[in-house]
Amino acid sequence: MDDCLFCKIVRGELPSKKAYEDDDVLVFHDIHPIAPVHLLLIPKLHVESLASCDAKHQAILGKLMLLAPRLALEQGLDQGFRTMINTGHGGGQEVFHLHLHVFGGGEHIPKI
Ligand code: 5GP
Ligand code: ZN
Repeated sequence: MDDCLFCKIVRGELPSKKAYEDDDVLVFHDIHPIAPVHLLLIPKLHVESLASCDAKHQAILGKLMLLAPRLALEQGLDQGFRTMINTGHGGGQEVFHLHLHVFGGGEHIPKI
């Protein structure tokens, strides 16, 4: 996806503060954090949203989920963290490249 913001980050055309990378996943710090630690976990391959996923995305979805607690701990979130996936305009999604938010730390985390 030529004009996708997160694909540009994957390709290194836009800078990011990376926290983790392997062959199929990139993790970087959100540019506008809503908590002391706020990571975005993304598949390197472009997928628009959770609603665009099907059975062939099962492995990458599982991988993102299992990375979340590991990276949260690495970032010092030993008291826990929150995960969030916004899907579609109705779900508040602004960047249409699937991403898992992982955030926490500090005194208070807003209650949903
Ligand atoms: P969404 O609302 O789509 O779930 O979340 C998109 C997130 O991407 C937002 O939290 C926003 O702050 C973050 N974001 C948008 N543009 C950039 C960018 O260029 N770099 C980084 N690191 N984060 C971004
Ligand atoms: Zn993309």
